[in-house]
Amino acid sequence: MRVFQVFLVAILLGVTLRAASAAETEAQAVELLGQVYRPQVVHSEGRTGWSLSDPEVLRLVAQTTTRMSWSSDGETLYFSGSVRESQWRPGSPQVRVDGNEQPAPGRLLGRGKGACMEPEALLFALALKPQSRGARVVAMPEVPAPRLEVVAGQRALRIPLASALRVQPTRLRADTLRLRFPGCAWAGSQQTLVRDDVQVAISEREGAVLMDLRFPPNWQGEIRSGRGLTEVLVGWRASFPPIRAIREVTSLGFSAETAASGVRVQAEGPFEYHWSFDRSTHRLTVDMPGLREPASLPVSRTPQGGWESFRFRPVGTSEQPVLRFEGDLAAGHGWQFVEGESTPGLLFLRSTPTAQVGSLAQTGSSATAGYASSRGVIVLDPGHGGGDPGCVNRSLGLLEKDVTLDVALRLRDMLVEEGWTVLLTREEDRDVSWRGSPDRVELQARCDVANQSGADYFISLHCNASVASARAGSSIHWFKQADLELARSLEFALGESLGLGQDGLRHDGFYVLRHTDMPAVLVEMAFLSNPREGALLGNAGFRQRIAQSLAGALQEHVSGRYAQGAEVPGTVPR
Ligand SMILES: [Zn+2]
Repeated sequence: MRVFQVFLVAILLGVTLRAASAAETEAQAVELLGQVYRPQVVHSEGRTGWSLSDPEVLRLVAQTTTRMSWSSDGETLYFSGSVRESQWRPGSPQVRVDGNEQPAPGRLLGRGKGACMEPEALLFALALKPQSRGARVVAMPEVPAPRLEVVAGQRALRIPLASALRVQPTRLRADTLRLRFPGCAWAGSQQTLVRDDVQVAISEREGAVLMDLRFPPNWQGEIRSGRGLTEVLVGWRASFPPIRAIREVTSLGFSAETAASGVRVQAEGPFEYHWSFDRSTHRLTVDMPGLREPASLPVSRTPQGGWESFRFRPVGTSEQPVLRFEGDLAAGHGWQFVEGESTPGLLFLRSTPTAQVGSLAQTGSSATAGYASSRGVIVLDPGHGGGDPGCVNRSLGLLEKDVTLDVALRLRDMLVEEGWTVLLTREEDRDVSWRGSPDRVELQARCDVANQSGADYFISLHCNASVASARAGSSIHWFKQADLELARSLEFALGESLGLGQDGLRHDGFYVLRHTDMPAVLVEMAFLSNPREGALLGNAGFRQRIAQSLAGALQEHVSGRYAQGAEVPGTVPR
């Protein structure tokens, strides 16, 4: 019935227009993101257009994020879209675009039901760039320049879309996120833009717009949720460990002291710093998380002690302050960090002739003297213990509680070496609460260790078991949204990389995951009930390898870095 009505309307319209203009009508093919539309071409006032009541035109409009409506007096046609808004008056050679009057690329002809629009005008109003391919017009959604906005207290880039489409993100390098807009055209004329800290490079290749977003060193871009598919929202977050202490800066600027002249940063307490050197620009960038910017931030444009210029600026948020130093080194100069040995929280950024500089890495992290822990606090929870043996492999004489404790102790030593503060829920074969306590009390006691220490992470270690002895593999269990990122980082640490089965990433409501305040995961290392995996768990060398893999994955998780040049898939907003 509906199909019939639409058909009838189309025929009637065709007939009406034919009668009105006394000209022949023919369909024109327009392609938008693989869909083909065939609006009837009508002739009116000596011009060629598409009827705005043509069902094919309405279908095309509906495929975009732009909405079309007439003013109540029927004298103005409004197009409101996420890329642009425009107002059209019948017959006018001008159009109002985002509040500015400008020459129209085509005209609106007639009013109400009889209105039609020249194709270039309609496509412009819909933010579609036409490209003719033979008899067919390919309409490519325009990709506008990203807009810098503050979303939920954090800076973000908003890229509105002219039509719903799937943007394909790829991480080109640790600091560069590529967005691919298939079937789209770049709306701007510039090929490079700077938005706050982000360098944007745009290119068009194989019918797609490629937008490469390069974030500052030590920061990573990520797609955040936007409003459905009508836009892409990209944010960036620090890839260094969470800020543990916020310090006031007591002195900042160039100081020529005999012992250590250079740019001096003195805070009320010890702090961490992360540096990165860009060979092409000769710029050293140092991020100091937790340092709150003082009232005045020194900027020097005159060379001082080998620095061509330098400046300080805040790049974090008010809750998570990060102070950044950017210094441009004079030709033939390198840099050196000199920490105040007896003064915690004192750092000199010195420029020295390259010959004097040792083999300092291009990027790295360190902390001033007196920094207690550079990595954070982690609670390891060896599953079971004391009166609760956990699962048991009788033929191997192996108890889960012994395996979990042994791996936890090994993992603790490795993490301490790497600068973590590590707490264990138990360091020996005992119950954490008391022998014979109900499960809920015992598990809550484990959560309490983590919650009361304000730990950054909680990892519960277990071995799996099944009546089916063939079942094998390691699995990582998470519950809260905050757990997921940690779970993903550990997903492939065990499993196939250690010659175990891979039993996957699981969403489970385990007590210790539900009642911990921080990102938490429960690791089922392998199946103790599986003859092969059970034998591996009984081997001290293998337990050492499990601990090494977990330590490595945790380290990678906090540094948040991907291997240079590796491409990892990002996420698509949904
Ligand atoms: Zn268990």
